[in-house]
Amino acid sequence: MRYEEPVFRPPCEADSLIIQATIGCPHNRCRFCGMYKMKKYRVRSVEEIEADLRMAKLVWFDPPGVFLADGNTIAMRTRDLVRVLDAARRNFPRVGSITCYGAARFIRGRKVEDLALLKEHGLKRIYMGLESGDDEILKMVDKGATADDHVRAAHKVKEAGIELSVYVLAGLGGKARSREHAINTAKTLNRMEPDYIRVRTLVLMPGFPMYEDLLKGTFQECTGRDIAIEKRLLLENLDVSDSAFLSDHVSNYLPLYGKLPRDKQKMIELIDSVLAEDDPACLKPRRITSL
Ligand code: SF4
Repeated sequence: MRYEEPVFRPPCEADSLIIQATIGCPHNRCRFCGMYKMKKYRVRSVEEIEADLRMAKLVWFDPPGVFLADGNTIAMRTRDLVRVLDAARRNFPRVGSITCYGAARFIRGRKVEDLALLKEHGLKRIYMGLESGDDEILKMVDKGATADDHVRAAHKVKEAGIELSVYVLAGLGGKARSREHAINTAKTLNRMEPDYIRVRTLVLMPGFPMYEDLLKGTFQECTGRDIAIEKRLLLENLDVSDSAFLSDHVSNYLPLYGKLPRDKQKMIELIDSVLAEDDPACLKPRRITSL
C-alpha cells in the first residue's frame, strides 16, 4: 500500500481498509490540530486511488469498511468522489461501509442532491469535527465555520441520508470558557441531531499553534476534574432525540458509552461517582509528549 504518513482514522475504523483519496487537509488552520501541518493539501487522481484499491485487493480479502483519508475527503469534487466510491465497491463488493471525514466548511455550500448522490454510490457516514458549539471558541481556534454553519451542514448530510458522526473536543475552551463550551456545544448538537456524538479531549503538543498559548500562559488547560465537570454539563444540556454518545478516544479520561436520551442519567451518575471518589486513576494526569 502507498501511504503518505502520518495517516489518521477514527478509532471505530480500526479494522477498515484506509485509502488516501486526499492528502492533508484543505483548511489546515485549526489551532488545536497538528494532524496534517506537515502536509500540503492535494487531491489524488482517481486513477491513483483506483490503483491503490486494486493493490489492496491483492492482500486484503474482505475489509469490513473502507475509510477514505485524509482530513477532508468530502472536499473532493462530487463526480470524482463518485468514481472513487464506485471503485471501492467494485473491488470490495461486500464492504459494509465507506466513510470519510468532512468539515462543515466543505459541506455547507454543497447541494443536498450532490450529497445524496454520494450516498447512492456508497458513502455511508461522514465524521465531522464540530469541536465546540461556542462561536467564540470556534473563532479562537480558527475552525473556519460557526455553530450555525455546522447546523446547516448537519441538516444537509442528514437530508441526504448519510450518517453523521460529530466530534466534540472536551477542554477546548480551557478553564476560562469550559462552562460556555459545554452549554453551547450541547445547544448546537441539539440542533444538529447527529447519529453519533464522539468526545475526545484536547491534548496540546509541541508544534500545535495552541501549544504556544499554553507556554505564554494565555490558555490554561482543564484538569481531569474540570473535564469531567464539563462533560457532565454537556450531557445535562443535551436534548437529542436519537444519538449514540461515545468517548471512544485514547485522549479521554473517562470512557462513556450510551444511547441518548435513554442512557443520559446513567452516564451522568457515572461521572458523579468518579467526581465523588476523586480517584486519580480515573482522572489520570495529562501527559504531553512530542510529535
Ligand atoms: S481539525 Fe480537521 S479541519 Fe481542522 S485542521 Fe485539523 S483536519 Fe483540518
